[in-house]
Amino acid sequence: MRPLVVVNVAMSADGKLSTRERRQVKISGAEDFSRVDRLKASTDAVMIGIGTVLADDPSLTVKSPESRRERHNRGKPEHPVRVVIDSEARTPPDASILTKGEGVRVVAVTGQADPDRVSVLRTKATVIVAGKTEVDLGLVLEELGAMGIRHLMVEGGGTLIAGLVRAGLVDEIYTYIGNIIIGGKDAPTLADGPGWIRETDFARLELTEVTRIDNGILLHWLVKKP
Ligand code: NAP
Repeated sequence: MRPLVVVNVAMSADGKLSTRERRQVKISGAEDFSRVDRLKASTDAVMIGIGTVLADDPSLTVKSPESRRERHNRGKPEHPVRVVIDSEARTPPDASILTKGEGVRVVAVTGQADPDRVSVLRTKATVIVAGKTEVDLGLVLEELGAMGIRHLMVEGGGTLIAGLVRAGLVDEIYTYIGNIIIGGKDAPTLADGPGWIRETDFARLELTEVTRIDNGILLHWLVKKP
């Protein structure tokens, strides 16, 4: 059984996740940072794409000591399982996601990934081999479900989110919209990749909550099932 999949992203007022050079930008403030940290603390696993690993080098650890203590009291490890989607096993062995904080890591690669790089990653993470040219996200979610992961948070980027939406694997989306304009037609957005052409293929959402946070708004969407 696949986990419930909840996407969380911060975007500028013009819908960009970062600059066109893929440089990380501070879009929200302290209150939203705490909300995201709490969401992370409430989940079993956090997933990102290799593009985000290479651009931002995030650790995806839970930052708040209270949240870590609370996870501990619930019999959970301090940090959720951290998952990277990485067809070619390009995750650097010294990436923060593999080295910072304790806990289980998973790297999902394809059958075409370089065996030497996969061997190195196996010393740091559980490696799932799924798919031929790109990672088979449905298969990865089934494997994560078999590992006992019931709730998965996806932290981006736009290419991975588009892949998950295309495969019908997203249940909820939180979009924080901050008070800056980043601009640039090539800057990442929530759903990159080739996009959809036919209106019948568009993902349909139901808006369930709107909250003002810091100097922006948080939207909570449910993804309607076809
Ligand atoms: P990404 O979404 O993090 O990673 C995408 C990569 O995942 C693909 O290029 C592909 O690389 C791999 N992949 C493997 N199988 C896939 C599949 N089935 N579907 C989709 N992807 C698959 O990269 P990105 O789009 O370049 O996003 C990175 C940017 O987003 C950075 O600028 C970062 O700062 C920004 N970001 C912003 C936020 C925010 O909330 N504002 C959050 C996260 C990231 P391979 O072919 O090599 O496997």
